[in-house]
Amino acid sequence: MRDSYDYLIVGAGLSGLVLAERLGSLGRSSLVVERRDHIGGNCHDRKDRNGLFYHVYGPHYFRTNSELVRTYLSRFTAWQDAKYRVNVFAGGTYWSFPINLGTFRQFSRNAAATEDDFKAYIARSALPIPSPANSKEAILAAVGPELYEFFYRGYTEKQWGRPAEALDASVCRRIPIHTGLDERYFKDEFQALPRDGYDAMFEALVEASGAEVLLGTDYRDVLPRVRYRHLIYTGPLDEYFGSRFGPLPYRTARYALEELGAEQVPTGFAQPVLQVNYPGPEAFTRTVELKHVTGQSSACSNLVREFPAEYRPGESDPNYPVPGPESDTLAAKYRDLAEREPGVTFIGRLAQYRYLNMDQVVGAALHTFEKLRDVRG
Ligand code: FAD
Ligand code: UDP
Repeated sequence: MRDSYDYLIVGAGLSGLVLAERLGSLGRSSLVVERRDHIGGNCHDRKDRNGLFYHVYGPHYFRTNSELVRTYLSRFTAWQDAKYRVNVFAGGTYWSFPINLGTFRQFSRNAAATEDDFKAYIARSALPIPSPANSKEAILAAVGPELYEFFYRGYTEKQWGRPAEALDASVCRRIPIHTGLDERYFKDEFQALPRDGYDAMFEALVEASGAEVLLGTDYRDVLPRVRYRHLIYTGPLDEYFGSRFGPLPYRTARYALEELGAEQVPTGFAQPVLQVNYPGPEAFTRTVELKHVTGQSSACSNLVREFPAEYRPGESDPNYPVPGPESDTLAAKYRDLAEREPGVTFIGRLAQYRYLNMDQVVGAALHTFEKLRDVRG
């Protein structure tokens, strides 16, 4: 480690490493400090003992409509086209999901039901709520109480540790509802995974950046030993300010890997599709079998089972900001402080306290780079 850099970057996730690479392209020096023992942040992936990829911090399905983001990342990875298929398992049955005509046919036990039948059902069932104030109202207004109860209520409560009424409408609206037979979970034009995994993409970013990366280190421990012109912070927003207004709520999860030998998966797969959601009484919310989309061929497989949990600082990682009235006012107070903090840029899912997808994070980092370049010459 040198004693001075142009930038001190806190966090070796997508935000931190995209900025390190961009700034490096201008010949600026960066020290990236990461408290985990690996790069990649929450996108980090690994191979299991059979050489099959899995996502360590929950499934990361890359998708985007942004040509800029896709072109930029394509400099650091080739892609494997992916069809992200999801089912729900409830009452002993696999259900087509997100809700579409196929789901309605199963639900109404009428295999001949048409799109018009489904639209008529929605017209009868959906509640007249012109501007839904929360996630429960959003789904009641979209499809009505029956489908909300079956597919959303239990899953949402389990995932967030609070009812859908306590969450911003945007949370449950993340997934589309189709009246036709479309079963896509996402509508984005480009849906693909880095062909050699996320970590290989992150390694290429680090390589191109020329930045020095210090793993297993909290940035506060290096502050007394290093000088820099500007700080880029991608850690939790409240933590930067010593949680002086009180802690912001986060949700976390435990991800349990099951490595499956050939004898455990006679058909090569453990479940019918990439992801199965469990809205029922199980302690877990979803199981992911990545082999469905990596293009890897093997007689073995793996599953990652996701158990949501309340976040405790120091004991777990803050995965999800919790969008809702409970956090809105508090987050606004911290964002206000962040705007007035001299010499620091706050960027990323945790530092902006926003439920951002990977492409949004990359887009924001590219935009921030332009601003840093203009301001700092
Ligand atoms: P992070 O990846 O969180 O990186 C921040 C880094 O900062 C962390 O590695 C952290 O250890 C480090 N750090 C924090 N504080 C300090 C400190 N004091 N000192 C040193 N280091 C510190 N997006 C999609 O587009 N598609 C998906 O399918 C998808 N699925 C997701 C599933 C889950 C379970 C989760 C949690 C997120 C998902 N996302 C998905 C979102 C995606 O993970 C984020 O958009 C992206 O990883 C954010 O990157 P980041 O760099 O802002 O944050
Ligand atoms: N959701 C649900 N049932 C499902 C899937 C999702 O109720 O089977 C709700 C839940 O509140 C979840 C939100 O929709 O948090 C967004 O789902 P998504 O799959 O995008 O969650 P993420 O991948 O961000 O965890």
